[in-house]
Amino acid sequence: MKPLNKSILAINGLLSLGIASQQTAISAEKNNNKPNFIIIFCDDMGYGDLGVYGNPNIKTPNLDLMAFQGQKWTNFYVAAPVSTPSRAALLTGRLPVRTGMSSEKLRVLFPDSNGGLPPGEITLARLLKDHGYRTAAVGKWHLGHKSPYLPTDHGFESYFGIPYSNDMDKIEKTDYYTLAETERFQAYNVPLMRNDKIVERPADQRTITKRYTEEIIEKIKSYKKEPFFLYLAHSFPHIPLFRSPEFKDKSKAGIYGDVIEEIDWSVGQILETLKKEKLAEKTLVIFTSDNGPWLTYGTHGGSAGLLRGGKGGTFEGGMREPAIFWWPEKIKPGVITEIATTMDLLPTFCKLGNIPVPNDRTYDGYDISPVIFRTGPNPREVVLYYRDTEVFAIRKGAFKAHFITQPEYGSSQRTIHDPPLLYDLNTDPSEKHDIAAKHPEIIAEIKKVLEDHISTLVPVENQLEK
Ligand code: MG
Repeated sequence: MKPLNKSILAINGLLSLGIASQQTAISAEKNNNKPNFIIIFCDDMGYGDLGVYGNPNIKTPNLDLMAFQGQKWTNFYVAAPVSTPSRAALLTGRLPVRTGMSSEKLRVLFPDSNGGLPPGEITLARLLKDHGYRTAAVGKWHLGHKSPYLPTDHGFESYFGIPYSNDMDKIEKTDYYTLAETERFQAYNVPLMRNDKIVERPADQRTITKRYTEEIIEKIKSYKKEPFFLYLAHSFPHIPLFRSPEFKDKSKAGIYGDVIEEIDWSVGQILETLKKEKLAEKTLVIFTSDNGPWLTYGTHGGSAGLLRGGKGGTFEGGMREPAIFWWPEKIKPGVITEIATTMDLLPTFCKLGNIPVPNDRTYDGYDISPVIFRTGPNPREVVLYYRDTEVFAIRKGAFKAHFITQPEYGSSQRTIHDPPLLYDLNTDPSEKHDIAAKHPEIIAEIKKVLEDHISTLVPVENQLEK
């Protein structure tokens, strides 16, 4: 009997091995059909900083080509006009007011902050990783630089980057401009981290764009046989500006132009690698920025082009961003004038990767794949312009109502508008001509959107004030 049992066991073992390998093959095939995703997220780049968005002096041939081969979006928004809340929204698909990642007292996280993106929040990286994706974060994080808030606590297998803004930990009194012009990166004692360890301090910011690029290319090559999600959040063009020797004094547009042109080079390297590795048709690449240009910094800040305002504020220049989508052979090239936001990327990637969106929380994003593939109507009609924890303005279709305005920086003086300022962004993208008096019915409609939205809010612990 014993030998028989043994052989039955052996046969069962073989059978289950066979089933297991068959299952592995099926899941490998399923994974094989999943697209890769790369998000390239700049810091403080303006709507008017790229050649393809009309800049007359900064040369961005790689981004121009990316837009020509892909889609140039002209009504693409972030959820906040400053870093921390904007990044929280991109990665969670939720408004920062829902995750505790916005504050009126401290607009972003600082090196002495103790909070961060709560562990209960489910990032895009977590969702994708739990469904077979390889993940990596490179660059600026700014969602908490201590555990349990690090990228590696939030679904990224690895992290390499400066964990907050590159102007923080300033230890010398010399002004930003001089420090940048003299390349004195040592004046900012910012850490460079690998996973949860500091590997360099101060980070040599002169080569940071180049090193981030090398890290991403290495990840593309090592993950190429599996689906992957790579998040490259450049530290620039946030001030202070630094660039590699190869880009120094090369741009007609000064040091700011040099920095953008190095980012453009980086994009070219990434797209070239995808082509060489035969991954281009399997990879959706999205290039955009966390908020508008920091106008306070003059020629060291960018330009919002024809849009009014910049970083920190709720006029268009603070929150409408250049956005280029690239996916050869999969998306039809062209200019997309439909409205979308960074919060739409989470549900859209989930749709494309065949991953269910969790149903235990409120999401503020929509699956915009019908717009990307031009197969159906845009599910988004409304944009909320939050400054910290308050709605300052709302766009519905072509019309935008400003209920409150406030200078971006340097003044706590706010103006409450009743009736709100009303602009038609289709005919007046620069927000110059107030048409409130002519359209009380549109104001009433937008007020209803505000009331309905406010009713969905639930108080949460503030992470920035911890
Ligand atoms: Mg920023």
